[in-house]
Amino acid sequence: MQTAIERTVAGVPLSDDEAIALADAGSELADEVRAAAAAVRDRAFGRGVTYSPKVFLPLTNLCRNRCDYCSFRRSPGEAGEWTMTHAEVEEQLARAGALGCGEALFCLGDTPEKAFSAYRRTLAAIGHESTVEYLHWAGSAAIAQGLLPHTNAGLLTDAEMLRLREVNVSLGLMLECSSERLCEPGMPHHRAPDKRPDRRLAMIDSAGGLRIPFTTGILVGLGETRRERIDSLLAIRRLHRAHGHVQEVIVQNFRAVPGVPMEHAPEPDEQEVTWSVAMARLVLDAEVSVQAPPNLNPAAADALLASGLNDFGGISPVTPDYINPRHPWPHVDRLGELCARAGFTLRPRSPIYDRFVDRADFLDRRLVDPTRRVQARLSAMGALP
Ligand code: SF4
Repeated sequence: MQTAIERTVAGVPLSDDEAIALADAGSELADEVRAAAAAVRDRAFGRGVTYSPKVFLPLTNLCRNRCDYCSFRRSPGEAGEWTMTHAEVEEQLARAGALGCGEALFCLGDTPEKAFSAYRRTLAAIGHESTVEYLHWAGSAAIAQGLLPHTNAGLLTDAEMLRLREVNVSLGLMLECSSERLCEPGMPHHRAPDKRPDRRLAMIDSAGGLRIPFTTGILVGLGETRRERIDSLLAIRRLHRAHGHVQEVIVQNFRAVPGVPMEHAPEPDEQEVTWSVAMARLVLDAEVSVQAPPNLNPAAADALLASGLNDFGGISPVTPDYINPRHPWPHVDRLGELCARAGFTLRPRSPIYDRFVDRADFLDRRLVDPTRRVQARLSAMGALP
C-alpha cells in the first residue's frame, strides 16, 4: 500500500483494489494518504484554491423523499413550506448580480410534482407546466442578470436534462453513497425512493452521454463504511472515465440537526472528513476538483487544504445555505486570509470549469458569450483577500 501511495504522487491514481485496501486499513497510513493527496493536488492545481460566488435559490422545498438527516424538506401545508414566486427569484437574482456573483444555484427537493397535487396547482398558478419549465424560466432570468445557472433538481430524465442544458452551464446530483444498504429499513434513505443508488448512477451516466458538465459527490457519516465510501468514489470515477464530464466531486460531511430522525447520530470527526477528502483526491483523476463545504467544517479549512482539497464550492454573499441553515457561509475575505496563511491563493471561479467552455459538445453555444463575460468579471476580481 505504501508503494501505491507513492505512485499516486508520481501521477498514477490508485487502482480499485488499492483504494479498497486503503479503506480496509483503518487509520494505518492515514498521514501518508493525506500527504500524498496534498502533493497530487499541488501537481494538478498548484497552490490555487477556488470558490464560486453564488446566490442559492431553493425554488421549492417540497420533496417526495424523507431522508433521515434532512431539515430542508417539507410537505404541502407543513410549516415552513415554500415555493418561490417569480418576483422572489428576480429580486434575489438582481441582488446577486449587483454583488458580483457568478453563479445562480437552483437547488430544490426531488420530484415534488410526482407526489403533490397541491404543488402542481401552485406551478400552474405561477404559469408553468412543470418544475423543469419553471427552472428553465429561472435559468433564463439568471442569465439576463449576468449570472450562470447551475441546477441540482434531483433525479431528471434525459429530456429534462436536455431542456435544462439550454440555460445551465452545468448540472449536479449528489450520488451520496452507492451502497443499497443505506436504503434498507432503519437506514437514512429507506424513505427516499429517489436516493436509490442505481437510479442516481444512471442519471450521472446519462448526463455524461448528453455531454453535460457535472457536479456530484458523496456524503460522509450517514452510517456507511469506509469501503462503501470508497466504492462510491470508484463508481464516480468509472462514469467520469466513460464520459469525461465530472468537473468536481463534493465530499460533504453529515451535520446533525435537531428535529430530524438522525438528530442524535454522531457526526464524522475531522480525521474522518479529511481522510475522505484525501482518498477522493487519490482515487479521482487529476482534472476532477475535490471540494468540501467550508461552512460545514468551520475549524478545519487548514486540515482540508493539507488533505488535498482544491475547491471550497459555492459561497453566497446573498442567501444562507438553505440546506444547512445552522451553518453560515464564511466571509470570503477571512477564508482568503486563512488560505494565504496556509500558502494558498483563493480565487473565484464560475460554475463551469474552463476546460468545458471551448468544447462545442459540452456547452450550448448560446451560453458561451455569457460564460466568457462572467469568467472575465471573476478574473478581474483577482485573488482574495
Ligand atoms: S435530502 Fe434532498 S431528497 Fe432527501 S429529503 Fe431532503 S430535499 Fe428531499
